[in-house]
Amino acid sequence: MGVFKRLFGEIILHLGDMEDEYRRENLSNDIAQCILIIAASVAITMLGLLMLDYLMFGNRLQLFHWMIVYRTVYILIALATIAILHKTRDQKLFDATVFTWSLLTAIYLILFNFTRPSNYLTTPFDILYPFGTYLLLPLRLKHNFALAAAFSIGTLFVDAFYKTEISSIQLSAALSSQILIHFLGLPAAIQMQSYRRRFFKAYLEQKDAHEMANYMINIDTLTKCMTRQYFMETAEKEFVRAKRLQLPLALLMLDIDHFKKINDNHGHHIGDQALQRFAEVVLEQKRAQDVFGRLGGEEFGLLLPNTTLKNAKLAAERIQKIWAHSLIAETLESVHSTVSIGVAEMSSTDCTFSVLLQRADNMMYKAKRRGRNRVAIK
Ligand code: GH3
Ligand code: MG
Ligand code: MG
Repeated sequence: MGVFKRLFGEIILHLGDMEDEYRRENLSNDIAQCILIIAASVAITMLGLLMLDYLMFGNRLQLFHWMIVYRTVYILIALATIAILHKTRDQKLFDATVFTWSLLTAIYLILFNFTRPSNYLTTPFDILYPFGTYLLLPLRLKHNFALAAAFSIGTLFVDAFYKTEISSIQLSAALSSQILIHFLGLPAAIQMQSYRRRFFKAYLEQKDAHEMANYMINIDTLTKCMTRQYFMETAEKEFVRAKRLQLPLALLMLDIDHFKKINDNHGHHIGDQALQRFAEVVLEQKRAQDVFGRLGGEEFGLLLPNTTLKNAKLAAERIQKIWAHSLIAETLESVHSTVSIGVAEMSSTDCTFSVLLQRADNMMYKAKRRGRNRVAIK
């Protein structure tokens, strides 16, 4: 038993915590596949009605009519199932719906065997259901197995007890074919599901690597805010959007005061710590839609979409005050710092983002000239 478990374990890939995500990611795919399969079962039912039923019961009109009723009920169930699957985005409902439909299909097929003449051999058809269940239904493996096994037991039961004119040779052929179909179908299903899981895992790993690469390119490692390049790209887009929608747009240029002195007096690592702390303060203060980037050594940009000059000034003053009261480090003495902030608003004559950037930069130098630790607006 342990050997089998190990061998199956080699083939079946257990996704662990990712299993739910894997099934959710595949849901729309699985829904489309099941709808097609159920639609095919409706088509086969109609074809069977025209060909087999007509051949067998064409001369017994009442029975033929019952067959029409019987097949219609199945078609209605199939159509209702398609309607549910079409609407649902819920994994559990999907599983329950497909499982129920498949079980009803098994019962519908087994009941057919009662209507067939007692010498009529259904073995070639009876292998189709387990085979289709294993290969086509995107359920959990144990559910595929349960459905296929239930059908096999049901159909063999009918063969053994109700097909009185079937020889023991025919019966053993029916039994062998059912056993064989499980020996073929189950490993095929295991292999297919494993391929899908392996594919999903590779896809996740690739997605993670891609996100990681993007993060490393776009996010400044020291301060965890946007790099200059990414900030400029994002700001350019925001600028175009604000122009198109005629919304206000404001920009803050923030430059830490006498930063060189922090480096000189306390060492480079305290300078780095100051940059990190400063970025943390701004990241805490900014709204989700605001765009924050490091434009140079100790120079930052904060773009405020849908914000007027007046409100941008308030935001700038808040950051300036909080930073003036923030503690950077506790070495021999407490290390504090201040920041000068220039504020500018997009005007109707600005045709590119760099014009706005230039104005905010000029304001920042104005704040420096006026004595630093302050906000300057036009
Ligand atoms: P001002 O008030 O006029 O802005 O003066 P300042 O000293 O802040 O400006 P200045 O441009 O003279 O100096 C900026 C310093 O920032 C120089 C540079 O060594 C330092 N710097 C740039 N990047 C980093 C960094 O990543 N870490 C540290 N620790 N220092 C940096
Ligand atoms: Mg500076
Ligand atoms: Mg500077």
